[in-house]
Amino acid sequence: AQSRLQRLKDTRATTLDGEEVKLLANIELPKDAIAARAVGADGIGLFRTEFLFLSRDGLPDEDEQFEAYRRVLKKMDDAPVTIRTLDVGADKALDSIGKRSTEANPALGMRAIRYSLSEPKVFLTQLRALLRASHYGKLKILLPMLAHAHEMDHALALIAQAKAQLTERKQKFDPRVEVGGMVEVPAAALALGMFVRRLQFLSIGTNDLIQYTLAIDRTDEAVAHLYDPLHPAVLKLIAGTIQTGVRYGLPVSVCGEMAGDTAYTRLLLGMGLRQFSMQSTQMLSVKQEILRADLVDLAPKVQRILKMDEQERVHEAVERLYG
Ligand code: PEP
Ligand code: MG
Repeated sequence: AQSRLQRLKDTRATTLDGEEVKLLANIELPKDAIAARAVGADGIGLFRTEFLFLSRDGLPDEDEQFEAYRRVLKKMDDAPVTIRTLDVGADKALDSIGKRSTEANPALGMRAIRYSLSEPKVFLTQLRALLRASHYGKLKILLPMLAHAHEMDHALALIAQAKAQLTERKQKFDPRVEVGGMVEVPAAALALGMFVRRLQFLSIGTNDLIQYTLAIDRTDEAVAHLYDPLHPAVLKLIAGTIQTGVRYGLPVSVCGEMAGDTAYTRLLLGMGLRQFSMQSTQMLSVKQEILRADLVDLAPKVQRILKMDEQERVHEAVERLYG
């Protein structure tokens, strides 16, 4: 079965009715780009840069980060590479800056963009490394865990400052590098206008979006049975984000685990999703599912699912999409 899937590597992910879908890879280290190429990924949809910072003494300096980012761009030729700024805290504690958490609720605490904005020197170093790498391919910057407009404004101001520093040093960068945001806090999905106005693309992080919508710690086994991607509230937030993206012409991807699970491929397609980002190991199975999907049939069924407010009915209806 694996070799039959492998034959799909160079096949475009197009639905039966001719809709094109982009399949992107999630990576944690530069070398993971090799696996992304091997399955024919259309690009990198999520490079979780925190893994460059974890399990080591001290932080990687600007040059080390620049080399890591450039390596991925080179590996991916001209394909887009979306690199997320540091998402430390909560489940990804950063020993080297003493950020192993003593907070009572680390998932609600100083993590991701909140950390970066509180440590502008660390953030500016990463931003300069990203901007320098942007000269070598199609790099996009992705900001994690946004909830407030002022977080975006502050981050965008620091990006402008990093550009000015590079200009001063006469170092090259792509002045039009795109900046996007993760939609992974319910507040962001519910007040999307302020994101759409400030950013160039959106990426839905379903792992955290589910955690924060259902108030379930994604690392706590005791409540894992309550972690349900098909909860009607979760589906409303995901579908609303996709629809708003379509309405404003802003590209939207899903980069949480849902995007790599074939049990949800038809549902997400029916919601209008056209960019899926996942672990490379999942990509060919998801592609196979897309090749079999007929949106003319799926779209009205998914619209009916989005109106359901009983979890059990949603589960049954999503299963029937494959019937
Ligand atoms: C997510 O929250 O869905 C996501 C992609 O980010 P991470 O899993 O790294 O928190
Ligand atoms: Mg997340």
